[in-house]
Parts: sequence; C-alpha cells; structure tokens
Amino acid sequence: MIKVVIIGGGWGGCAAALSAAQAGATVLLLERTDLLLGTGLVGGIFRNNGRFTAAEEIISLGGQDLIATMDQSARHTNIEFPGHRHASLYDVGKIEAAVSELLQQHGIKVRLKTRITDVLRLGKLVRHIVTDNGEIIEGDVFIDATGTAGPMGNCLTYGNGCSMCALRCPAFGPRVSITARAQVKERNGEKLDGTFGAMSGSCKLHKESLSSALQDQLESTGVVVIPMPEMLKNKISLGKKACSQYALPEYRDNLVLLDTGHAKMMTSYFALEDLRQIPGLENARFADPYAGGKGNSIRYLGIAPCANTLQVDGVDNLFCCGEKFGIMVGHTEAVATGLLAGHNAVRYSLDMQYLQLPRTLAIGEFIAFVHEQMNEKQHLDVRYTFAGATFFNRMQELNLYSIDPSVIKARVAEAGLSDIFSQRLV
Ligand SMILES: Cc1cc2nc3c(=O)[nH]c(=O)nc-3n(C[C@H](O)[C@H](O)[C@H](O)COP(=O)(O)OP(=O)(O)OC[C@H]3O[C@@H](n4cnc5c(N)ncnc54)[C@H](O)[C@@H]3O)c2cc1C
Repeated sequence: MIKVVIIGGGWGGCAAALSAAQAGATVLLLERTDLLLGTGLVGGIFRNNGRFTAAEEIISLGGQDLIATMDQSARHTNIEFPGHRHASLYDVGKIEAAVSELLQQHGIKVRLKTRITDVLRLGKLVRHIVTDNGEIIEGDVFIDATGTAGPMGNCLTYGNGCSMCALRCPAFGPRVSITARAQVKERNGEKLDGTFGAMSGSCKLHKESLSSALQDQLESTGVVVIPMPEMLKNKISLGKKACSQYALPEYRDNLVLLDTGHAKMMTSYFALEDLRQIPGLENARFADPYAGGKGNSIRYLGIAPCANTLQVDGVDNLFCCGEKFGIMVGHTEAVATGLLAGHNAVRYSLDMQYLQLPRTLAIGEFIAFVHEQMNEKQHLDVRYTFAGATFFNRMQELNLYSIDPSVIKARVAEAGLSDIFSQRLV
C-alpha cells in the first residue's frame, strides 16, 4: 500500500489528500492546529472572475468534491463588487466542518495538533519526518502544504504583522517549512519596496460591531460599498496588497465590505481611529487579524522551488502545493495545485510518468506562467491569481477565461483529462 503523508491542512493540503486518496493511496494529513483550512478559515471569496473558469476546470478534472463543498457552504452566489463578477462567498464559520466531513468520507486519516519540526533527508529522498514531541512518521512520499505565513516575530522583523492569528499562533506553535527542513533553498516574495513578504488585501470585522443598517444590507445583498471620506483616501495603501486583484482605485475610493459570516473588509489594514470615522462603523472592531488596525498577513516567506509537476527540486519523494508552490493567492489556486500534487505523489510511488497539465487549460497555464515569472527575479513582488491583475488579463488574452461550464468541460475532454483526479491508479 502506498502511504502519502501531507503536512499542512490548508486548502492545498486538503485537496492533495483527496486526490491521493482517490488515486488509491493511504493518506495521512497532519495539521499543527486543531482546525483544517489554514488561512482559508478567514477568506471566503471564490468563483470571482477567472476563478469561475478554474473551479469548473477542477470539477471536470475530477476534483468536484471540494468545489461542491464550497458551493454548498456559500452565503451568497453570483454577486458583483468592484472589479469582480459572478463571485460566491462561502461561510467562514461553516466551511471547515464540511471539509472535515468530506475527508472522513474518503477514508483520509487526519491528525490535528500535530506539528512537524524536522525532516530526515538522505540523498534524494525524505526518509521520515518528526513531530515536535519527537515522534517519527514514515511514508513513501511527502507533500509540503505548510503555506508561507511568517513565523512569530515577523511583526517586529517586517513591521506589519503576519497571518498567524488566522493560523492561531502561538497556541499551536509557528509554521515550519518541510522543504526548508529538507535542506532545499527556498525563495521569498517581496513587497514593492524590496522588503520580504506581502500584505493580504483584506481584514475581517465583527459584523455585529457595524450599524444595524449596514448589517442588514450585507446580509441581504452580500456587498456594501461605502464612498470613502476624502480625508481617509490617502490612508489606503494599494501597493502593499498581496492580492493585486483588489489593488484597484475603487478600493481606495470606497470601503468595500463582503458578507462571509464576518464582514470582510477589502483593505490591507486600517487604523481603528480612522475606520470609526466612516458612517456605520463608529463601533467597528477587527475580528481577524487581531491587529488589523496596524498590519496584516505577511506571507510568501519560503516558497519551494519545484517543477510544473509540483515535485520539489532535488528531492524525489517531496511534492508541494498551495502557496508553497509559488507567489499565488487563493483558495481555488491552492485546491488546483493540491489536487495535482496529491495525484503526482501517487504516480511517483507507482513509477509512472508525472501528470503535467497542458497550457490549453487555465490551471496548466497558471502553473507554468507563475514559474516562468518567478524565474525572473524582478517578478517576485507580483502575485498571481485567476481572480485578477496580471494573470486574469492573460487568461482573457489567451481565450482561457470562460463562464460556460460546457465549454470548459469540452476543453478538459479535448486534453484527454476528464476526471483524471478521481481516477484510481493503484
Ligand atoms: C486574511 C486573508 C484573507 C484571504 N481571503 C481570501 C479569499 O477571500 N479568497 C481566496 O481565494 N483567497 C483568500 N486568501 C488567500 C488564501 O487563503 C490562501 O492563498 C490559500 O488558502 C493558501 O492555502 P495553503 O493551503 O497553501 O496554505 P495555508 O492556508 O497557509 O495552510 C497551511 C497549513 O499548514 C499548517 N502547517 C504549517 N506548518 C506546519 C507544520 N510544520 N506541521 C503541520 N502543519 C503545519 C498551517 O497550520 C496551515 O493550516 C486570504 C488569505 C488571508 C491571509
């Protein structure tokens, strides 16, 4: 029996677990906190812009279960907000339990509160990994899905916070990169000023801290757009956003709120005393990050160098996915790469040729393009997503963007890859 061990239970790790299990492996998913989904616990936006195409590609490729879980957990579907069309918002309070149940149904063994802190690598192989209490865990093949959130202390080192409150640090100990522990040299994303990391494009507010009129509007339509008072416009820094799809002038001129259960505020951070000058936000409080009045979400520290098959350079039985694979943003992006990593991990164990998604598919183009761009040093301050900015423009130029599921299904069929991720290989 092939044993695939996945470290990190964010969207990337959960997707890798599913495709590896569907390919017939025994799967062990290890997560350092007591919840799955990692930074996906505070996101919620999916199917916006090119993510619609990617979600439908995932469905046609055989990864429908996770997309169905997102769809079934949606509070709002097919909504619009500045620069974004046909978006859905999953309920951040409900999604984790739904994913956890799905993994159980597939017979995936999930071990929570299990933090990996060391790796034994001999030559080109990871032999085993070690938990923080010294337990040795063996496997045939390993997947690094540990994300790229910064460890504790990043607030002081980089000046503007980390996403560790989403990941509930320090109660569960900091993130540890498996790739780095396997002695592979990683790369860091950068901000425009050349310092490491990137800030998220959003924060969460306690919905109940908003005026009742704003709460009602949010719950009925999913979106509230409030014109920004003139004196606050220059306080919004678009250049610091990791999510360049929200670095549009509309997000400087307006305060955009989305209903994901919390009120998701589409700015990187906002000093509380300024935020409370906006009508309806007089009592506003940040839910996540706790320090949303000062900073937010340093990520992209420790990206694994890897092939388009998601095999980590120099280590035959180590694959990676999600933010570990490249400077990309998003749940859908993490799911797409996770499915490929899990599938290829099983192919590795069977000595089969790895699957590389063709560039006729949006996901294949995404993986190849992100790697090409990252190989040029000057591009490490750009983030890639199906949902906007550079890559969504590219999808449109290459005719890869479609919101017609039958067109997308036909494209996947033409590539000979229908249901590939749900096929049994063992
Ligand atoms: C505030 C915020 C809002 C966002 N909003 C959206 C949104 O609306 N829509 C969207 O598409 N994207 C959004 N994103 C981006 C998106 O959440 C991420 O890009 C994506 O979910 C990353 O998934 P991942 O699996 O690669 O990593 P992560 O979510 O970082 O998961 C990594 C997991 O690995 C675990 N881990 C780390 N080290 C170890 C170890 N050594 N041992 C065991 N476990 C370990 C962590 O605890 C974590 O659960 C948002 C991100 C943030 C921070």
